[in-house]
Amino acid sequence: WKGALRSHHFPAVKSSPGDFVSDQAFVTLATNDMYCQGALVLGQSLRNQRATRKLVVLITLQVSSLLRVILSRVFDEVIEVNLIDSADYIHLAFLKRPELGVTLTKLHCWTLTHYTKCVFLDADTLVLSNIDDLFDRGEFSAAPDPGWPDCFNSGVFVFQPSLETHSLLLQHATDHGSFDGADQGLLNSFFSSWSTADIHKHLPFIYNLSSNTAYTYSPAFKQFGSSAKVVHFLGSTKPWNYTYNPQTGSVSKEGSSLVPEQQMTFLNLWWTIYHQSILPLYGSVHDED
Ligand code: UDP
Ligand code: MN
Repeated sequence: WKGALRSHHFPAVKSSPGDFVSDQAFVTLATNDMYCQGALVLGQSLRNQRATRKLVVLITLQVSSLLRVILSRVFDEVIEVNLIDSADYIHLAFLKRPELGVTLTKLHCWTLTHYTKCVFLDADTLVLSNIDDLFDRGEFSAAPDPGWPDCFNSGVFVFQPSLETHSLLLQHATDHGSFDGADQGLLNSFFSSWSTADIHKHLPFIYNLSSNTAYTYSPAFKQFGSSAKVVHFLGSTKPWNYTYNPQTGSVSKEGSSLVPEQQMTFLNLWWTIYHQSILPLYGSVHDED
């Protein structure tokens, strides 16, 4: 069966074409093996769209050694960050605000100072077309949040790694906490001029399209949905919480009503990548044991 698996490989090719920019990166975060599934599909979707920047995933101690190996097949760098063992000021911020655990972990992306500019993407996002043009934008660029458009959604943002900014963010977290208990509240109060200062820092909504927007403004979705570049599966039910039938290509969820059609399209895309490109990686790891 191993041979059969191998012949069905859709390898995660790490290509380096001429226009590759090696001092910039797409960055994501996965603190456990479940979110790693999302990170893997995201990474593969960036490769499918011929991303010309490095792919970086931040992980924490909880991520298993198997997933670390698989992540390294898709990402150029797998970097473990550890809240407690890091610099003193992180320790301090964490002790004062233990509820901000995952939030403070996301802020570690500012420490990637071997890159001049980065684009952060949540592990529950999926890239549908090339988004390298995001690197033409400056810090701090993000798209409006669908629930409160004067705030940005922190699932997709352009930033510039800097230890100074990192420590200012941690100081802000220690002093003020986060109004929503997560990174989005903290980042919005830190980059508080986002909604008024510079329209270039407002990313179009198609760079962070919430998968459930079809509900809330369906005519707009009909008009603009097909130009979506990044889909964000925000909310409590993630793509990996659904069940996929590879024979029929159907996605379903136990005990829940019918999945809306527009969401179904995106969930299908997610699962197709997972099935074609990520699952075979598990087989290849066993082959080499
Ligand atoms: N995350 C993680 N582990 C967790 C929760 C969150 O690694 O237990 C990371 C992951 O990259 C995720 C991001 O933090 O995409 C933000 O969380 P989430 O996407 O669940 O929030 P939402 O977008 O639904 O508000
Ligand atoms: Mn998210």
